[in-house]
Amino acid sequence: MVVGEFSEDIDVLVVGAGPGGYVAAIRAAQLGKSVTIVDKAELGGVCLNRGCIPSKALITAAHQYEAAKASPIPGITSSATLDFGKVQAWKQSVVDKMTGGVKTLLKGNKVRVVQGEVFFTGPNEVRVLSEYEGQRFRFKDCILATGSRPIELKALPYGKRVLSSTEALALDHVPESLIVVGGGYIGIELGQTYAKFGSKVTIVEGTGSILPTFDAQLTRMVVRNLKKYNVDIHTNAFAQGVEETENGITLTFKVGDEEKRVTAEYVLVTVGRRPNTDELGLDAAGVQLTEKGMVQVDHQGRTSNPHIFAIGDIVPGPALAHKASYEGKVAAEVIAGHNSAVDYRCIPAVVFSDPEIATVGLSEEEAKQQYGEIAVGRFPYAANGRAVSLGADGFVKLIADKQSGLLVGAQVTGAEASNLIAELGLAIEMSATLEDIALTIHAHPTLGEMVMEAADVALGSPIHIVR
Ligand SMILES: Cc1cc2nc3c(=O)[nH]c(=O)nc-3n(C[C@H](O)[C@H](O)[C@H](O)COP(=O)(O)OP(=O)(O)OC[C@H]3O[C@@H](n4cnc5c(N)ncnc54)[C@H](O)[C@@H]3O)c2cc1C
Repeated sequence: MVVGEFSEDIDVLVVGAGPGGYVAAIRAAQLGKSVTIVDKAELGGVCLNRGCIPSKALITAAHQYEAAKASPIPGITSSATLDFGKVQAWKQSVVDKMTGGVKTLLKGNKVRVVQGEVFFTGPNEVRVLSEYEGQRFRFKDCILATGSRPIELKALPYGKRVLSSTEALALDHVPESLIVVGGGYIGIELGQTYAKFGSKVTIVEGTGSILPTFDAQLTRMVVRNLKKYNVDIHTNAFAQGVEETENGITLTFKVGDEEKRVTAEYVLVTVGRRPNTDELGLDAAGVQLTEKGMVQVDHQGRTSNPHIFAIGDIVPGPALAHKASYEGKVAAEVIAGHNSAVDYRCIPAVVFSDPEIATVGLSEEEAKQQYGEIAVGRFPYAANGRAVSLGADGFVKLIADKQSGLLVGAQVTGAEASNLIAELGLAIEMSATLEDIALTIHAHPTLGEMVMEAADVALGSPIHIVR
């Protein structure tokens, strides 16, 4: 123990200030709790500093650069130049604005912020170590929100030329060439971004397709666009190892029995993330983990220690910021005595690829299994005035229980899919039927009209496409 270290009694301790932790802290404070939040790094967690926000800023920049280089509208010509250093500085300014916002929100809600690394020393006690001091807190309730970190492959240890998403987001130049190992959403978003900035990109994915958790109808246009940017995609391909050369790095991978080699400036490994649960001393806290190191929780976020809750990337389910925030609100409310519980009927998932992909609720297959007969309505961007004037392609698909007409799932691929999916999540949450959606007057001309029209298609009475 550090000399002079004593244990302070506190009400609610939140460990981790990502989108799970900071939202939980604010909600608990709003509900009258005295809250202390501790983070060993920056406020905002992975999401604001090394995830959602910086990646979307770079995606926007790549999109603008592409549009400025070659306008798709005849009659407009422009010449674009790229100063990547300035783009990175702008990206950082976006991150700083967001993390500054979190600081203000925590202060405004009277949440005490402590910087340091948390270790459990007992079921209701932690030690917090910072650069200069050690502190001990004894808490009544605790919310664990320590998030996740990139998985490192043994054969491809991170280093100067083998990057995780963190380093890939912070490069000081556009690499001439980049190999992305792992074609999940992080790999595709970053790979496509650098391809738009001018890198020669190669994707090496272990399963039979990129974005393997999404169905092929949704990913088809992304694959087409990646090819447009000269991206090489290898599927059923397994990375074996890397060898550094003087100016680059060579990746060896296997497709079936065939061994292939590609050389590039960097290899980016995006094969998934692992929960930050291994260095917290959770044994001392009596918090049980699953075999994969996730924290086991009940429907209220409570762990095997009734006064410790866990949320976000460290609990099972998709590792997404909005899921973390949602769970954070539930845990805070339970601690404040409310009878809240999680309901995972619809967690939206968005890939900010070009075009965007967004899903919510059940897929067609899942809906068939659950409901038997289903109604599906698919409406193309090509038949929507606003989409055509934007030069956008894609479709909106609604999936409903045939008998009741209840919307149970939705998928969008195309421009603004990330925004269009919000209405569909609300519709599922509110138990809307196809008829409710078809009868909702949508403003014209907007992309949102496609939601209404897809409902009309599912009901068998489409207006703007021939039956
Ligand atoms: C490149 C990239 C892009 C992404 N894009 C999206 C996206 O578009 N949409 C989306 O929904 N999700 C996205 N994600 C995922 C999203 O970032 C995570 O799901 C989200 O950040 C999880 O939130 P969290 O609160 O659980 O944890 P985190 O955001 O990981 O925060 C955990 C915090 O806990 C702190 N911590 C850890 N251990 C300790 C300790 N012992 N003591 C004190 N503090 C500790 C860490 O410093 C960190 O600040 C992306 C992720 C990446 C990497």
